[in-house]
Amino acid sequence: MRQSENILERIATQGIVLGDGGYLIELERRGWVDSGSGREKVGTGKGSGQFTPEVAIEHPDALRELHREFLNAGSQVLQALTFFGTREKLNRAGYGEQTEAINAAAVRIAREVAGSSALVAGSVSRTQLFEREGPSAAGHVRDLITEQVRLLADANVDFLILETFFHLEEMLIAIECSRASSLPIIATMTFRPTLSQCSDGHSPADCARAMVDAGAAAVGVNCEQEPDRMLAITRKMHKAVTVPIAAQPAAFRTTDATPCFTRLPQFPDEMEAIQLPRSSFEQFAQRAKSEGIQFLGGCCGCNAAYIHAFARGLAASTAIAQRHVG
Ligand SMILES: [Zn+2]
Repeated sequence: MRQSENILERIATQGIVLGDGGYLIELERRGWVDSGSGREKVGTGKGSGQFTPEVAIEHPDALRELHREFLNAGSQVLQALTFFGTREKLNRAGYGEQTEAINAAAVRIAREVAGSSALVAGSVSRTQLFEREGPSAAGHVRDLITEQVRLLADANVDFLILETFFHLEEMLIAIECSRASSLPIIATMTFRPTLSQCSDGHSPADCARAMVDAGAAAVGVNCEQEPDRMLAITRKMHKAVTVPIAAQPAAFRTTDATPCFTRLPQFPDEMEAIQLPRSSFEQFAQRAKSEGIQFLGGCCGCNAAYIHAFARGLAASTAIAQRHVG
């Protein structure tokens, strides 16, 4: 059932590939994932059992249904819900012993839904240990990500998306660990609390160059900002490197003073108040290709309606056949 082409060939052939949306925030809205807000302050980057992916083994039908919705909306890639799926993070949520089962189930469910219609990406995120312990965590981070990459490769993902890293140093460790799998790597940093540098002080251009030098096949940015604000970052990356640029914006309205939704007071329990209309996603997709974006997906707050809006925007701007656009 696996498609023989890989993500890089698909990007080259189509010019732009449409990914999927955000899983954990959407599944939290639907009642299947714990935000952690009842226990502690969320959004510090240091949370214990917040937004972890045990839904893959506890409520697999809920996860399966969200994958089906993204596929039906036009996603050409489904990300296995393995975000925050490293053993130490799962351990903080009480699921450390289920690390293998959660990662394997998440990939299996994504693959079942994808069939021959979409590629399946393994999602690898920051461990949160750089936020919690600082750079001394590097060795532990290396062990944790090495383990997760092995689990994802064993489960037969088509490629890896490394996403939502606040520290470039941790991202570079993740790329190095991922290269052992020989799978294609899309690497996207996340900028918080400013657009001009990541948490360990590197500009978007420097991040892009460093990720390419480390072995990423496509680089970009995901989460925290809405599409238009994210362009300030992708443009700098696009100028700095020649590889495809990836963008996975959030669907929340941020502000000039706080250009990251997880630092806004509405996170995580009043997100409805800052939800962005899907029309802005359609407009963003229309200009994505001219901005050098060749992998386009959504992050937090982005359900199937936003992916459908992306698909409409892409269809309007390119000749790509979008079988699901009605
Ligand atoms: Zn996100």
